Parts: sequence; C-alpha cells; structure tokens
Amino acid sequence: MAIIKPQGTNDFLPGGEDISSEKLQKVEELLREICREYGYGEIRTPIFEYTELFQRGVGETTDIVQKEMYTFADRGGRSITLRPENTASTCRAFGEHKLYGRPQQPQKLYYIGPMFRCERPQAGRFRQFHQFGIEVIGTNSPFADAEAICLAWDIYSRLGLKDLELHLNSVGCPKCRAEYRKALQEHLRPALPQLCGTCQDRFERNPMRILDCKNPNCKNLAAGAPTIDQYLCQECAGHFASVQAILTASGIPYHLDSRLVRGLDYYTKTAFEILSGGIGAQSAVCGGGRYDGLMEEVCGQSIPAVGFAAGIERIFGALKAQGLDIEVETGLDVYVIATGDDAAAQQRAFALGQELRKAGLRVDFDLLSRGMKAQFKAANREGARFAVILGGDEFARGVAQVKDMQAGEQVEVALAEVTAHIQSKMA
Ligand code: ATP
Ligand code: MG
Repeated sequence: MAIIKPQGTNDFLPGGEDISSEKLQKVEELLREICREYGYGEIRTPIFEYTELFQRGVGETTDIVQKEMYTFADRGGRSITLRPENTASTCRAFGEHKLYGRPQQPQKLYYIGPMFRCERPQAGRFRQFHQFGIEVIGTNSPFADAEAICLAWDIYSRLGLKDLELHLNSVGCPKCRAEYRKALQEHLRPALPQLCGTCQDRFERNPMRILDCKNPNCKNLAAGAPTIDQYLCQECAGHFASVQAILTASGIPYHLDSRLVRGLDYYTKTAFEILSGGIGAQSAVCGGGRYDGLMEEVCGQSIPAVGFAAGIERIFGALKAQGLDIEVETGLDVYVIATGDDAAAQQRAFALGQELRKAGLRVDFDLLSRGMKAQFKAANREGARFAVILGGDEFARGVAQVKDMQAGEQVEVALAEVTAHIQSKMA
C-alpha cells in the first residue's frame, strides 16, 4: 500500500487547491515586508531543542507540555522535543548569544516556521503547522506592547480580513496576581469536584487557566468568577492604561476582556488575542502578550519582553471563511519551442532559454520532446506571454520566430537579438 502523510500534517503543493505553496510564500512575503517596515530582524532557531527548554519556557502545567509535545530520546539518550512554539527558543538564543550586549536595544526579532503539537486533529488544528511571531526583548515600555499589537493588526487588515476583534487584558504581575489567585480559588473551591480533570489539576498550580478552559461545563462554573482587573497593582494598572491610550491614539479598536488569561508566572501585564469572524471555535488568529519573567526562567537574566505568535494556516482559514483569497502571480514570460529533430537546433533553443533566464525572464522549455502543437498548448496552459520557435530551418539561418501570444503577431528575429526584442516588448 502507498504511504500517506501523517495525520494532522499538510503537503503544500505548487498550484495546490487549498493552500498552495505559492499562496503560502505570498503570505510569508507580506509578513517579512511588514517586519522590515517595523524594523524587526529574522531569527531562525533549530526545529528541535532539549526538552528542558520547553518544560521551563512553556511551563510544566500547560497543555502543550503536558499533552502536546513530540518528545523522544536521541541516539545519545538526550531528551529532544520538536518545538511546539518559538518564544522559548528565541529567549534561549537571546541569552546564549548575549544579544542583550548588542548596541541596538531592544532587540526586535521575528520568526516564521513549522511548529509541532500532537493535538487531536480538527478544523484549523494541525500537528505540524506554521507560526509567525515577533518578540521585543529588552524593554517594559507600553509602546512596545502597542507596537506588537499594531504589527499584528496590520497583518490581518492588509490581508483584507473583516470583523477583526482585538481582545485585550492585563494579567498583572506575580505581586498583584497572588491576591487574585486566592480570590479565584475561593470562588471556585465549592465547584472543584464538578470541574473537568484538567481544571482540577490546574486548581492549585495554575487556577487562572481554568478561565480559559474550552469545556462548556467549566465555562459555566467559572462564569461568575472574580476577574483580574479589580486586583491590578498601581504599576500594572498604569501600564495597562498606557497601552490602551496608545492603541486609541493609533486608531486600533479593542475589547477589554478580563477573562483572557495566560496563567503562568512569567506572563505579566498585557495579554491579547486577535479573533477573526467566521472561523468558529478556532477563531483566534494570533495570541500574545508580555512575559517579563520568561528570560529569567530560560537564561537566568531578568529582561522584560513582549511578543505574539500567529498561526499561518489560520490566516487561510479566516480568508476562506470570508470569501477572500491570496492572488498569486503565475504565468511565464517565454516558452521556448524547439521543433524538428535537429539536435544542434534543439540545443541552441535550450541555450536561448538560458540566455532569456539570465536576463531575468521566466522561461520554460519542453522537456518531453513533444510536437509543436503540444508545445504551443503547453505555452498557453502556462500563460506564456511569448513563444520563441526555433527549428532546423531557423537555426540554419541564425533566427527564431517570436510570437506575441496575446496579440497573435509573429516576427522573425535574429538569434542574438531575441532577448533584447522580448525585453523591449515587455517594457
Ligand atoms: P488554542 O487555545 O487555540 O489551543 P494556543 O493557546 O495553543 O491556542 P498559542 O500557543 O498561543 O495558541 O499559538 C498562537 C497561535 O498559533 C494560535 O492563535 C493559532 O493561530 C496558532 N495555532 C496554535 N495551535 C495550532 C495548531 N495545532 N494548528 C494550527 N494553528 C495553531
Ligand atoms: Mg493549544
């Protein structure tokens, strides 16, 4: 039996139906362009890391670490994990390469690449998926939070998505959160036996995550729970007010959502999500926030940071749900048609194709030794603007026929002039 791809993974094909590789590239180009505009540099970290990094950097109590990681022992017996996200690796690299010592601060980094989570496959949820994300490391300024949010917002608006919702909250800091945790536990304690197993586990170690549980029963039980906004200390409340003021000044609308939580100690202050209309349960296209305690955890240096991660497949889901698509440029400039059996003429036609490619044109050449008619068909199918026809007779006379496929005109051009001729026509 033929082997098929593992569950929850995708093949992205050129000309593919759903998410073609061209569309994926186009979206990635947009992401890179926006990062250039905002002054972010790309970081590429390994696709696998020592497991410990994610245990510490994502957190032992998270779904990711408890249930979703692809972890295995390598040949030397070290525990390795395929990265489920890229923030921990970015912080590791930041510390390992002492980026805090660089003159340019804060460091503004972005990444694009595959992540791996062993989740139950469902719409919009894959086991290998792509994330784009940014991290601003080395500042606690609310302007950095606002910049991260503006960058994310820019992506989705430039893609033409409508019904975007920015959900915004502050999860405080370990200081003010301690009080809140207590109040939350007090409120939930009577309902503890009815919470789902995961939430029962969370109750002691990570109670804020209970507010984030997707189980409808847990949602109900947590409905009247106290919210963090009442508990923020002066510093966190001030920071949050500044973030909101900056967003308002920049024309970014937001919904305050005091149930938006992250739950781990190293997440501090700003938490946000962007939702896109029409994609149902998996409507979050991106999630992020501030993590002033993470660098300490990963590389023992206390350095504030803020960032977000965005699912790239989710972008396509959101576009599709809104009847939008990514336009890709396909189509050739020139199809070189070699006719007849003269090997020298065929070789000259091939070399002519190379000359045209060197001049920067998009060129194809028949690799199936088909007849002229079939080659013209191929030229049409590939959307060639010009066909250059070279047979034994033309070769002997040092010329080629150049056919403008749109206008239908055909002219004879000296071989040495073909490139210049086509370039002038295209200009
Ligand atoms: P969820 O609550 O939906 O599981 P999450 O909290 O696990 O999300 P993050 O870890 O914050 O999500 O990842 C950021 C973004 O990456 C998500 O908003 C989503 O767009 C995307 N994402 C996360 N998991 C997957 C997946 N399995 N398949 C596709 N995209 C994903
Ligand atoms: Mg998840």
